[in-house]
Amino acid sequence: MKTWFDGRWSENAPAPLLAHALHYGTGVFEGIRCYLAARGPALFRLDDHLERFANGARRLAMKLDLEAIRQACLDAVVENGLEEAYIRPIAFYGTGALGLDLAPLTLHVAVAALPWNSHLGARAAQFGVSACVSERRRNDARAIPPLKLTGAYVNSVLAKLEATRAGFDEALFVDDRGLVCEATGENVFMVRAGRVTAARHPDALPGITRRTLIELSGADEREIPLEELLQADEAFLTGTSAEVTPLAQLGDRRYGVGRVTRELQQAYAAAVRSGPDRWLSPAREEAHAK
Ligand code: PMP
Repeated sequence: MKTWFDGRWSENAPAPLLAHALHYGTGVFEGIRCYLAARGPALFRLDDHLERFANGARRLAMKLDLEAIRQACLDAVVENGLEEAYIRPIAFYGTGALGLDLAPLTLHVAVAALPWNSHLGARAAQFGVSACVSERRRNDARAIPPLKLTGAYVNSVLAKLEATRAGFDEALFVDDRGLVCEATGENVFMVRAGRVTAARHPDALPGITRRTLIELSGADEREIPLEELLQADEAFLTGTSAEVTPLAQLGDRRYGVGRVTRELQQAYAAAVRSGPDRWLSPAREEAHAK
């Protein structure tokens, strides 16, 4: 697998052992999908992902060449001969010091592309996943902004670990007021009496799949108390990787997989492969490497 690392393509791009990001989580990343569309492999909402990436980079005082990173995302698909793929850009601080001041540190940028594999498993789309309500709180946006900063993901990893140890697939973060925040790597929706609602919460990542689903379904967005989610007819999770994954079970509450969720799964699957065009960046047409 060829990775773009600091401006070059290489088969083996090692990060230094004393990389600041490894020790303190000072990196920012994205997860982008490429689907086989009519015009060949196309990256879905590439510029929206890059905008969120840029927001995270700005918080960490990183100056990045976003045009070069955009090009590398497209080229990574073509360089590796991929069709359906997952693209992972990451910018992170390297070496120079082990203090917390960023100024002396080297900055690295990489883009990797992997053949696609669903992180929740192929069965998840069909049968849905189970989640527990996590005992843990989501990173408060006043402590760590809800962006894809690498260090922030320890919060998700701990919740996911505890959930899987308890026999669930996923964990749902709920705040001190009992409001639904998000899952460890997905946003949350519910369906009640045919009406689709996206959970809104200041500590949740502004998901691009969430935004897509709101557009496709005409969902409203508002705070959702856990009690209300438990009474919903259907619930589902959204993410670049998870796409539209039915939430089949939350704690003891079993929803199964509902009709509206199925329809939205299909609508999303159609959108990622056939547009609108403004959401698709065809890799072969835009790539440098041909
Ligand atoms: N929340 C978290 C914590 C995530 O990591 C993700 C995945 N990026 C999402 C929600 C969904 O965001 P998106 O739809 O942009 O992938």
